[in-house]
Amino acid sequence: MPYKVTLIPGDGIGPEITDAARRVIEATGVAIDWEIVEAGEAVIGDYGTPLPDYVLESVRNNKVALKGPLTTPIGTGFRSVNVALRKELNLYANVRPAVTLPGVDSRYDNVDLIIVRENTEDLYAGVEHMVGEDAAESIKIITRKASERIVRFAFELAKKQGRRKVTAVHKANILKFSDGLFLKTAKEVAADYPEIEFEDMIVDAMSMKLVQMPEKYDVLVMPNLYGDILSDLCAGLVGGLGVAPGANIGDGIAVFEPVHGSAPKHAGKNRVNPLATILSGVMMLEYLGEQEAADRIRRAVNAVLVNKDQVTYDLGGSASTSGMADAIIANIQSN
Ligand code: NAD
Repeated sequence: MPYKVTLIPGDGIGPEITDAARRVIEATGVAIDWEIVEAGEAVIGDYGTPLPDYVLESVRNNKVALKGPLTTPIGTGFRSVNVALRKELNLYANVRPAVTLPGVDSRYDNVDLIIVRENTEDLYAGVEHMVGEDAAESIKIITRKASERIVRFAFELAKKQGRRKVTAVHKANILKFSDGLFLKTAKEVAADYPEIEFEDMIVDAMSMKLVQMPEKYDVLVMPNLYGDILSDLCAGLVGGLGVAPGANIGDGIAVFEPVHGSAPKHAGKNRVNPLATILSGVMMLEYLGEQEAADRIRRAVNAVLVNKDQVTYDLGGSASTSGMADAIIANIQSN
């Protein structure tokens, strides 16, 4: 029986990179019946929303999706479409690995860390209002339940992957109630995992240490906003947004997508890097239990990355989006 997977091509560069990822995944021979559902700017005219109900229904039914980026229209009533999707499906854990890749220019050669970002609350709960004409308030919501769930997820991930340390990132010295609750809860959960080292770090110090010595860190768990910011920083440690994959995971449901957005200025030019989406597809195969297929893609990617004529402009190469995918597919087929 083939796996049934929802494929959301998305906006901007989305269709090009999801097509590349789909072809690479199919080259492994894993049978997938893709249910393609359109979301984003193209459907607003017909449905009045970038996220019609059929998109959510498809993901709820299939339980697994591969997603291209969605543009958040500016100056309309829509808050981020991506945040809405994660909230609607209760995809509470955002998992973003940052791993040094062969052949990719970076100042560091030993980075292997995972950001686990809480995906449902914090300042992204969208509770915001004006106070009169000249002031505005955004409410930061942190609950014990969501904090416990995300920290436990991080420890379970560390356990499953044989990782040694979990670092909880916060600003509890200033935000004594909200981040204070997150930190207190993290310490309580950590007590259940004595075999895994635990430490906590204030987000500003964490930013400096990640730039100075990223190889010291392993699994980092944090509230939504810090996770959003630090995951782009960590993408920068290993070659940029073009190589940074991600997963949004809930209970028995998961949506895989690159960290980057729809990069509208590059859309339709067949020039951006498809690797972040391909590696998101690799995370999806691992989630489905298709480890061998995932390993085959990783090996092919590593072989292709050292050839500048087979990689895209952002990695110093000259290949197109589809050309880089073709090179990875050729490598999979010849090994
Ligand atoms: P972006 O990530 O789309 O692009 C920023 C820059 O990063 C690009 O101009 C490009 O230079 C580079 N870049 C991004 N992806 C690349 C790739 N695959 N290969 C090579 N270079 C790449 O960020 P943005 O311009 O701030 O956002 C554009 C739109 O995307 C916005 O509407 C935003 O809301 C949305 N967005 C969506 C998601 C998502 O769907 N999960 C995530 C972030 C941003």
